[in-house]
Amino acid sequence: MKTKSLILGFAGLLSLSSCQKEEVTLQNEDFTQSIGSYSHLDLIDSTLTDNGLRAAFEKDYLWQNGQTVGIKIANGTDTYKKLVKEALFEWMAYVNINFRIVSNDQSVSYPCITISFENGPSPYELRGTTRGLGKNATSIRFVGFESNKISKEVKYGTILHELGHALGMVHEHQSPNSPISWNANAIFKDYRKMAIYNSLSDNELRNIIAVNVTEKYLTSEVSATSYDENSLMMYDFPSSWTTNGKSGHSNFNLSTLDKSKASQMYPYNGTKRFYRCYLNGMRAHFYTANFAELKDQNYTQDIESTMGKIHDSQVSGTTKLHRYFNGRDHFYTTDYNELGAGKYGYKYEGCAGYVYTSAKTGLIPVYRYYSTYSDNNTHFYTTNFNELGYGKEKNGFKYERIAFYILPN
Ligand SMILES: [Zn+2]
Repeated sequence: MKTKSLILGFAGLLSLSSCQKEEVTLQNEDFTQSIGSYSHLDLIDSTLTDNGLRAAFEKDYLWQNGQTVGIKIANGTDTYKKLVKEALFEWMAYVNINFRIVSNDQSVSYPCITISFENGPSPYELRGTTRGLGKNATSIRFVGFESNKISKEVKYGTILHELGHALGMVHEHQSPNSPISWNANAIFKDYRKMAIYNSLSDNELRNIIAVNVTEKYLTSEVSATSYDENSLMMYDFPSSWTTNGKSGHSNFNLSTLDKSKASQMYPYNGTKRFYRCYLNGMRAHFYTANFAELKDQNYTQDIESTMGKIHDSQVSGTTKLHRYFNGRDHFYTTDYNELGAGKYGYKYEGCAGYVYTSAKTGLIPVYRYYSTYSDNNTHFYTTNFNELGYGKEKNGFKYERIAFYILPN
């Protein structure tokens, strides 16, 4: 184990492509120098005692598969909170970790990650890292989000990236499979020009660059895919930083390899999350275990919760959950005879997954409601009987029955 301090830098702006360069430069007068077209160093934690270096996952820094991890959002606008929530739901599609947002003063039995937002760029930022995994020490700090010059895509991608670290991911350009030969002096010269690192000595800066950019993880330290330049965990850097002509571009989405690697590190073992959304435009709820569908339809910001887990394929005690749609109302039933191939204007959309039809220890019921109030004519499903009880006249929803049973989150 190497002994060194990690300095985690400017999390809020970790990856800036050239098209964002000027926008970000303009965000604050303190930014007197161009920050370049390459990425900010995003890992700084002076409390780390080894190099803590971890789509590559650092084996010593993984959560327990299936565990619940609390998320406390210390501050920030509703917009940021929504972005964090959306990013957590996206990760939950691929990793079997039950992220649960808890209030700041709530004391819970599981470990929590604290997320905070800070205004304005500062010389460099300290923030906790995955070092605190399994403990309450983990925290992520985002800086510079207040700038409306930074696109939502970059902010969202930055949150996804930092959550990737929190899940144990390391930078892709530092993967043992990275083909890059670095030109450390060229990198140092470029970062040295940046005003935001003025308070660091040359040695400190070189150290941070090593930790964030040039040091490769050992094959024994990480579980890595083949080198993936489309990884969310890549930095943006020019070929002048390398001696073999390689360059890197930042990515603001999970790549195909990121997703498959994440699913391998935190396997769902034949289950998947069942998402509940509220579609404002339709004034109706929608439920699916297919996250890609939510992404394609641009519904990810409408996710309210994950209700639990359902099965990918039939296992003992489960049956198909049939899904129907009438243009507004989504209807789900385990009884194919209810609507068959489609009836009363409902079209059959197929099997949403496999669910249980009777109560069993460890399963939770999903309650079904229907409302005809004010031509509402929609169905509603919830795992929380207290949400509507036997029905609330206000919404016109009347309790019908337990529709099916699912696995808890
Ligand atoms: Zn990073």
